[in-house]
Parts: sequence; structure tokens; C-alpha cells
Amino acid sequence: MNTSSVDVAKLPLMLANLRLPTFARLWSELTQRADREGWPSARLLATLCELEMAERVQRRIQRHLAEARLPAGKTLDSFDFAAVPMISKAHVMALAAGDAWLAKGGTILMFGPPGSGKTHLSAALGAALVEKGLRVLFTRTIDLVQKLQTARQELALTAAIDKLDKFDLLILDDLSYVHKDQAETSVLFELIAARYERRSIMITANRPFGAWDSLFPDKAMTIAAIDRLVHHATIFEMNVESFRRRTATEQRHSATVATSASDIDQRHRS
Ligand code: ADP
Ligand code: MG
Repeated sequence: MNTSSVDVAKLPLMLANLRLPTFARLWSELTQRADREGWPSARLLATLCELEMAERVQRRIQRHLAEARLPAGKTLDSFDFAAVPMISKAHVMALAAGDAWLAKGGTILMFGPPGSGKTHLSAALGAALVEKGLRVLFTRTIDLVQKLQTARQELALTAAIDKLDKFDLLILDDLSYVHKDQAETSVLFELIAARYERRSIMITANRPFGAWDSLFPDKAMTIAAIDRLVHHATIFEMNVESFRRRTATEQRHSATVATSASDIDQRHRS
């Protein structure tokens, strides 16, 4: 190749064409530095490649975070494990770090009354897994069931379920809120059966299995669904008082303490 005909001025255009945005942003600065410091050409090339690859990973994670539709601000860092003493932080951290349970299509089930932290913990786990490079979708169960029902009416249920295969983990929040009329079609069961032992599901519910009869068309299907879900499951029972109510009570309590303290202070002064 006759390199004397290479047009350096075309570099930005060529890098854009090759979809190398980090290269495009940094080549000028780095080539100057390499010239100044006398880097071997291979080092310059390797540096640019390394930066491009690292940013590519970051861009992918950002894309996956956006598509995951996780509720904002729910992280493991901001989750107070002391509030749910029955849950081992180490266990949750292991689930957030390891993908062995996802590789075999394992399930996580979270039960607890409203305000016990199910949405927070499930979203936080989801966010941690996206950071690890996995693909996650967080959805209210009723919304997803609604979408699958529409697909079913259009004879496209299988395609819709297949499309969800790109997600390593589906987080179905508030399973117990599925409407009675939604339970009459079997889309939820079809989804659970299709992902069984292949793709993971995480479910949160206010009510334990005993109250799941109203979620599926009949008892046999309820049993079949529960059977699949518990097979490779981690179950978290979060039987604690509502975090919302508790923090409200604590605030009221500390307000009372503060008032009485200032009362004493006042009396002292007068
Ligand atoms: P659930 O989904 O079980 O009804 P949420 O996860 O929505 O409960 O929790 C209610 C509120 O309390 C949310 O704002 C959540 O972030 C917060 N919360 C619940 N449990 C905890 C916890 N252990 N540590 C920190 N915040 C919590
Ligand atoms: Mg919730």
C-alpha cells in the first residue's frame, strides 16, 4: 500500500464511518502526546483500542439500564438490610454478583406486606446485574400481562414471549395485583412455562402461594406454575412492618423528643 496517499484530514470521517467514537474523540490528543513522548506506534494503537473497548462496554450498560425500566434510585447501597433481619445481606450480594443462578434460569421470589421493600430490593438487584453486563426488564406484572393478552388476541403470543428471551431476568413486580379478568387467560402461565429452566424470573408478591388461586385460570394451572417457579428458587420472606410507616413513626417520634427537649431547655432558661 502506498501510505503517502493517505489523507489524515479524512480521519474523523473514517472513524465515524467505522463507528469508533472514542477513537474519534481522542486520536488528536493521543497522537500529539505519542509524538511528544516518542511512544512506539503499537502503544498508541493499543491505547486507543483499549479506551474504545472500555467505553463501548459502558455505553452498552447505559443502553441496558435504559431498557430495563428500573424505578429510579433503588440501589443495594441505599437498601437498609437491618430493616429486614430475616434476609442475609451476604446472600443478596452473592445473587447480585454471581450469574450461576441466572445461567440455569433460576427464580427469586419475594413475599412481604406493602412497604416491606420488595420493589426496592428487586430493582436494586436488577440494577446490580445490569452493571454486571446482564439484560434485565422490570415491569409491573399487570402491565406485562396486559401486553401479552393483546399479543394473544393478535395471535402473536409466542412471538411476544420469545422477544422477552433477550432479557436474562424479568422482574415481575406485584404479581398479586393481577386482575381477575387477566387471570382468565393463561398468558402468565405461558410466560412462566416458556422461561422455565432457561431464563430467570424474579417475582414480588404481597400474598404467599396459598392466595395465588385467583392468578391463573384454574387450580391445576396454579399448581403447575408454582411448581416451576419454586424448582430453582430463592425465596425471601420479608415479613416486616412497612418501611414507610416505620420511618414516618420514627420521624414523629424524634419530633416529639425534640419538642420535649426544647421544652426542658425553655424551662431551664426561664
Ligand atoms: P414494597 O414494594 O414491598 O411495597 P417498597 O420497596 O416500595 O415496598 O418500599 C417502600 C419505600 O420504602 C420505598 O421508598 C423504599 O425505597 C423504602 N424502603 C423499603 N425498605 C427499605 C429498606 N430496607 N431500606 C431502605 N429503604 C427501604
Ligand atoms: Mg412494591
